[in-house]
Amino acid sequence: MNPQNKNDRAAWLQGPSAACSMPGDLESPWRLVLLGAPGVGKGTQALLLSQRLGACHLSTGDVFRAPGGRPECEQTPAMTAAMQHMRRGELLPDSTVWEMVRERSGCLRCRGGFILDGFPRTLSQAEALKQHMESERLSLNAVVNYELPLDEIVSRLSGRRTCKQCKAVFHVTGQPPKSEGVCDHCGGPLYQREDDRPESVKVRMEAYERSTMPLIQFYSGLGLLLPVAATGSPDAICERTTAALAACV
Ligand code: AMP
Repeated sequence: MNPQNKNDRAAWLQGPSAACSMPGDLESPWRLVLLGAPGVGKGTQALLLSQRLGACHLSTGDVFRAPGGRPECEQTPAMTAAMQHMRRGELLPDSTVWEMVRERSGCLRCRGGFILDGFPRTLSQAEALKQHMESERLSLNAVVNYELPLDEIVSRLSGRRTCKQCKAVFHVTGQPPKSEGVCDHCGGPLYQREDDRPESVKVRMEAYERSTMPLIQFYSGLGLLLPVAATGSPDAICERTTAALAACV
């Protein structure tokens, strides 16, 4: 496997004018999309996969949440409107999301590769990504689809706690931090995302079923879909994912 990814993802999290520390330069960079219902563990897997494969974890949710928690980011009116949608658990308009991703298209070309988490989430976003990748003569290696029963998803979401600083994800019972409310990795404060509260979780699950489920068929038709069971510990799921990736490339 490639060396650990030490990139700070500045160009993704803060915008294209920010320079990344230690951008990757791999001979065969991984270019992956992670799919799965909210709470299935995509963020955790993206982090683990990024450490193993060297590719950057690119989460659209992290970018949209960034202005609230990162003072160095400018809070534009569009971002303020986006955050109102997010708090309610609703998807943002495709045009807003694609504009943000297109601005950061350098991250898609980066020789470190990428692991997209939370994007694409609609067919129109998937089409936009496909066209963009084709025009750049880039291709995805695979689209990993994490599968988990609904009752387990709801329990994972309600117990999830996220680090305000480094975005690491914990679970109050499944993967508790060593010290309550404090991130094991950077010492930052842990919090419950507003959209992990019960009323927003319901809206997010409906949005997933309506808008994101069709992507499974879309990527299956392109021969890119890689189903992976999201049961067991984060390390076991990651192991399963890397084994499936090794078998498909
Ligand atoms: P996530 O962290 O991926 O669950 O994203 C959190 C929230 O950000 C979502 O509930 C949406 O409001 C918004 N969001 C993130 N990515 C997208 C996307 N690709 N399309 C629409 N909305 C998005």
